[in-house]
Amino acid sequence: MQKFSLHTHTLGFDGRNREEEMVAQAEFLGWKRLGFSNHFIVHPRIKDSVMFSYAVKGGYDKIYSASFEEAIAKFESHYQKIDALKKETGMQLLKGMEVDYFAAPEWRKGFEKALKILKPDYLIGSAHFIEYRDTLHNSHDVKNASPIEQNMLLHRYWRNERAAVQSGLFDFMAHLDLMKKVGLGQDEKWQEEEQKTVAAIKNAGVRVELNTSGCKFGDEPYPSRRIMQMLAAAKVPVLLSDDAHSASQLGKYFEQTTELAHACGLNIADDLRFVPQGVKLFASKGKGIAD
Ligand SMILES: [Zn+2]
Ligand SMILES: [Zn+2]
Repeated sequence: MQKFSLHTHTLGFDGRNREEEMVAQAEFLGWKRLGFSNHFIVHPRIKDSVMFSYAVKGGYDKIYSASFEEAIAKFESHYQKIDALKKETGMQLLKGMEVDYFAAPEWRKGFEKALKILKPDYLIGSAHFIEYRDTLHNSHDVKNASPIEQNMLLHRYWRNERAAVQSGLFDFMAHLDLMKKVGLGQDEKWQEEEQKTVAAIKNAGVRVELNTSGCKFGDEPYPSRRIMQMLAAAKVPVLLSDDAHSASQLGKYFEQTTELAHACGLNIADDLRFVPQGVKLFASKGKGIAD
C-alpha cells in the first residue's frame, strides 16, 4: 500500500497540527516521505466571498490571500520549517501547495513570480471556487443557489477544472468531483462533463489523486467510482491522498480506497514512480502544454 501522502495541511493555514507533529505521525506509520500542501488561494476579491466570512468565524481565514505578496509571506516561514525538519529527521519532506487556479492572465503572472520565490517541489491543482459575475462561489454557495444557477455553476466548475488541467502547472489534480461534498453533480447527466475532463487530463499527462477525505461522507473517495472507471479506461495514473488536516488523518481510508481503486480497474502507482528524486516531483512545468 502507498506509504506517503502529498496532500496535507498544517496549523497556520487550516490544519490542526504543526509540521513536526505531522512528521512524527508519518514516522510512526513507517512512512519515509511526506508532502505538505497548504492552500495557496490568491484572488483580489477573495475577502468579499461568503466563504471568507465563514473562515473568519472558524479561524482559518489565513488560507485566503488578496495578493500574492500576502500568500508568499505565509509560505516562506512554513517552508523554512519544513527545511529545518528535513535536516533534523532525515525524512524526505516535500514542499508542495494546493493551488486554486484562476484563469486571469494577471493571476498566472503573479503565480509564476511566486513559484520563482518559493520554489515548491510540486503543485496540486484545485477548484474550491467558481468565479461568476465578479463573485466567487464555493460549494456551499452552489448548494444554496437556485436549480438553474446550480446547473450553470456546475458546468462552470468542470470548465475550470479543465482549464487548470490544461494550464500545464499542476502535477496532479485534487478531489475532481468536490461538489459531491454538498450532494451535487452525481446525476448521470454530468457524465459528459466528467468524460471531457478525464480526456483533458489524459491529453495533458496530468495525474489525479484519489482523495480519501471523501470517504467520511460515504463509501467512496473523490472522485466517484464512475470517474475512477473513466480514469482506468484512459489509463490515467492515480495516487492516494488523505488531505489530512490533522496528524490522525494521515493514511486514513487508504486500505479501503486501494481496494475500491482495484475494483474500478485502477492501479495505484508505486511511490518511486511518483517521487523520482524528491526534488522536482513530476517536472510538469514547462513541458509545453498550451494554455
Ligand atoms: Zn481541497
Ligand atoms: Zn486539501
